[in-house]
Amino acid sequence: MIPVEPRTVLPGTAAAGADRDPLLEVVRRTWGFDGFLPLQREAMETIRRGRDSLVVLPTGGGKSLCFQAPALLGDGLAVVVSPLISLMKDQVDGLTVNGVAAAYYNSSLDHTERATVRQGLTEGHYRLLYVSPERLAGETGDAFAHLLDQAGVSFFAVDEAHCISQWGHAFRPEYRALGGLRERFPRASVHAFTATATPRVRADIVEQLGLADPEVLVGSFDRANLTYRVLRRGNLAAALRRVIDRHPGEAGIIYCRSRRETESLAQRLESWGYSALPYHAGLDDHVRARHQEEFLNERVDVMVATVAFGMGIDRSNVRFLIHTGAPRSVEHYQQEAGRAGRDGLEAECVLFYSAGDFVTWRRLLDESGELDDSARRLLAEMRRYAGATHCRHRALLEYFGQTYDRDDCGACDWCLGELERVDEPVVLAQKILSCVYRLRQRWGMGQVIDVLRGRRTDKVEANGHHELSTFGLLEDLSIDELRGFVGQLLDQGFLAQAGDRYPVLQGTPAGQQLLKGEGGCELFRQQRPEPRRRKATASGDVETWEGVDRGLFEALRELRREIAAERGVPPYVIFHDTSLRDLARVRPTGRATLLRVYGVGEKKADDLGPPFLAAVERYCAENELERDVMPALFR
Ligand code: ADP
Ligand code: ZN
Repeated sequence: MIPVEPRTVLPGTAAAGADRDPLLEVVRRTWGFDGFLPLQREAMETIRRGRDSLVVLPTGGGKSLCFQAPALLGDGLAVVVSPLISLMKDQVDGLTVNGVAAAYYNSSLDHTERATVRQGLTEGHYRLLYVSPERLAGETGDAFAHLLDQAGVSFFAVDEAHCISQWGHAFRPEYRALGGLRERFPRASVHAFTATATPRVRADIVEQLGLADPEVLVGSFDRANLTYRVLRRGNLAAALRRVIDRHPGEAGIIYCRSRRETESLAQRLESWGYSALPYHAGLDDHVRARHQEEFLNERVDVMVATVAFGMGIDRSNVRFLIHTGAPRSVEHYQQEAGRAGRDGLEAECVLFYSAGDFVTWRRLLDESGELDDSARRLLAEMRRYAGATHCRHRALLEYFGQTYDRDDCGACDWCLGELERVDEPVVLAQKILSCVYRLRQRWGMGQVIDVLRGRRTDKVEANGHHELSTFGLLEDLSIDELRGFVGQLLDQGFLAQAGDRYPVLQGTPAGQQLLKGEGGCELFRQQRPEPRRRKATASGDVETWEGVDRGLFEALRELRREIAAERGVPPYVIFHDTSLRDLARVRPTGRATLLRVYGVGEKKADDLGPPFLAAVERYCAENELERDVMPALFR
């Protein structure tokens, strides 16, 4: 750690280089970032050249900046199509605190507000305008398009572009209106942005939007800052508490399997002293909106929700995300888990599952008439992911057809050594299999486990199962452990479940061979993760807590909350957690060092600098902390 020198006295190369690099200069001055995330520059340059494009970057990949930065450099107006009104407001608020003239035009504005925006448009006041897709359709669309003609649109950025595709997971019919943009505005280029990984959806986006010879940029789907864990669901409540306790005072989302589960779980968490609220589509509109608001404004830590809680939650500092059951596909899992750590800081994703989840899904999909071959295949893939015994980052990436080039991600249960190999797996598997055969392949998992553990339940005695030779064969294992092993044998195809409603365990040909001593298998025992565990060699350059004064971070967080409330914006619009951490690490004394802090552009340095510098000053004086601390290499 060396003290920083003010930017003005640094050797001139960086500044001189920036002059010749207008994109970098605008990104530094306005956003306070020192460079580009992967593919951002390429995406921006494509826009500058006016060539249509499709940009596919994962959540948190920095898609917004790709169109926002060029909007500041071009001479026309950038029109951003966004699916959610709440998201538009947040984005515009975020731009405004950075000193960018931006507005949104949608049904949430009253008559006067609309007139103001229209006026601003004809006067060429805005660099960016956010609109909902339906604005651009129908008769109102004609009038509106005329207004845009006057304003002179240089390009359209279609955010969440997968909403135009029926093959996607979030089809929105109103997006179809965008198909006409290309022809209606021949001089403007059209740029689609999405995090959707499937090639079919991508092709559909290009076709539906009528993109002309688009540049297609596809980034890596690995989310290096996420730590993935998959645990078999045993005592869920206790396991949940262990996860939450790894994140005191931090934001989390718990995705539940049913509305009822969200309510009962939220209640239980509350009774244990956690700050939690339920969220699902069945709640009254105002209750639901209030719960969402409490969470976004950081007054509540944990949202216990169904997957209805998703798109549009832009709390970027979600530090843990739990699924209490397996989703219906790996795509769904990736999409939902991806809502953690959108600010690029480390976050933990834990999937709890059991064999029963897949039975339940088959039943639900069957009832809704969706259980076809493709749905079965997706479910099987999900199961394979959950049961896999290798790197989760690799598994996810390979699922989406990309390659992973590290041996050890440092950020999944497998690479962290939380799965312990069982010493004599074949012997253990044989004991379980022989019990299944002794029960004549007619009983479910519960009975098999009771018999193996030697439990004299009524059901065991009534059927004489306590007299079987396999009774009590594995009496020293816990239910959870044994469930885990049975689950692994199912995942590996040595056992199968027959019957959708009351599934019974059966052996498979592979299971029979194993029982005869032919072939082998591997079984794992799950170890409990240590608190906040993540290897130093974790994948990618993930921001850490290194050098951060936690007390100062909390003090700054409080200040952020107050300022956000005063201004009526969510806290992250003021500063991301990344910036707060950096502030609590650098502890700047003045504007020059403040500008070196991640995410502090010139406007924020002017407007928010005074209160934040004062808070840093006060805290550091009280705690006798060194100031202006910068890493040896300027970031
Ligand atoms: P996406 O829309 O792709 O999910 P966002 O646009 O919300 O991603 O950006 C994710 C995070 O990355 C935000 O916190 C944003 O401020 C940050 N970010 C974007 N571009 C950069 C950059 N060039 N340098 C550092 N951080 C960036
Ligand atoms: Zn790994």
